Amino acid sequence: MLRPYNFSAGPAAMPAEVLAQAADEMLDWPDATGKRCGMGVMEMSHRGKEFLSIYTQAEADLRELLAVPSNFRILFMQGGGLAENAIVPLNLAARRGAQGHAPAADFVVTGSWSDKSQKEARRYCDVHIAASNQAEGHTAIPAASTWQLRQGVSYVHVCGNETINGLEYHTLPDLKALGSDAELVVDFSSNVASRPMDWNKVGLAFGGAQKNLGPAGLTLVVVREDLLGHAMAHCPSAFDYKLVADNGSMYNTPPTYAIYMAGLTFQWLKRQGGVAAMEQRNIAKAELLYRTIDASGLYENRVAPDCRSRMNVPFFLRNEALNDAFLAGAKEAGLLQLKGHKSVGGMRASLYNAMPLEGVQALCSYLQEFERTHG
Ligand SMILES: *Cc1c(COP(=O)(O)O)cnc(C)c1O
Repeated sequence: MLRPYNFSAGPAAMPAEVLAQAADEMLDWPDATGKRCGMGVMEMSHRGKEFLSIYTQAEADLRELLAVPSNFRILFMQGGGLAENAIVPLNLAARRGAQGHAPAADFVVTGSWSDKSQKEARRYCDVHIAASNQAEGHTAIPAASTWQLRQGVSYVHVCGNETINGLEYHTLPDLKALGSDAELVVDFSSNVASRPMDWNKVGLAFGGAQKNLGPAGLTLVVVREDLLGHAMAHCPSAFDYKLVADNGSMYNTPPTYAIYMAGLTFQWLKRQGGVAAMEQRNIAKAELLYRTIDASGLYENRVAPDCRSRMNVPFFLRNEALNDAFLAGAKEAGLLQLKGHKSVGGMRASLYNAMPLEGVQALCSYLQEFERTHG
């Protein structure tokens, strides 16, 4: 079946193969040998052997794909990236309280999401903005050498990819090299599995699955083992990382169907050659689109070239009066959900793993054709 190209920022396009397999297995799930069990995945107990096999495979595949070291735990949680803005400080900020420090964390604000994160964390700990690009309209990531990091804080929060503003760290900061002994916390909601991750620099990474890995409802947390067990007394039990880890993400019922769908996506990613192969494709897709935008007189992207996101490409029509015609024509051409976030305006094309190069080529052809006829 030929489907339109869906550029949604999230929930976002999933691989058609994955959706087709889920459809085939909806009423009667087959195990690895092909034997059907008489139940769909949504109907299984999370503690039954059928679902446990799905869960175990999904976790192992994700560990392999992201090259997660053995001293990190992978937690399958709920609440989305937004809930983690509270859950992270509730679990980590008091980690050093025993040494006489008040719970504290530093934040680097590079766009809407990291700004939301620091605002939420203020309810739970002492927050300091180590650097911010707000005054320049979120168009460049402040150089790490200029960050005002405090000594003695539990962690430093960065957003690996600002989904709304279209900025991405192409190298994660090395806090040790910057003279900080804090842990790095990374929000990887919108670029997880789009590129390899350097775990040497990271204490904890979190993200919702619905941008790059599966349906909404599943939140991934990857956390180094020694950071567990420091939750504040008023942290909800279901969100206490240690309890979740000790119970294999089944302290309460996990989002079973979302885990299954993410698991099918992990297997699809492995068939594509894994994260390193995805990164090469994502570079090619993003380069093609930025090149097309930069070469045109009608479209513009305002983000500094060295931190442009490979996943989310916001762009503006210099003549904003053409916006509606642009979107209507795009839909007609089978290019869906290109409207920009309401806080930014303009357009945004999200190029997650499930977007093939052909989709970006079709978008670029449309951009050029629309400019020829309206420019
Ligand atoms: C989408 C997103 C979130 C919020 O995710 P929810 O699942 O809606 O809570 C947080 N951070 C980033 C970077 C995102 O892209």
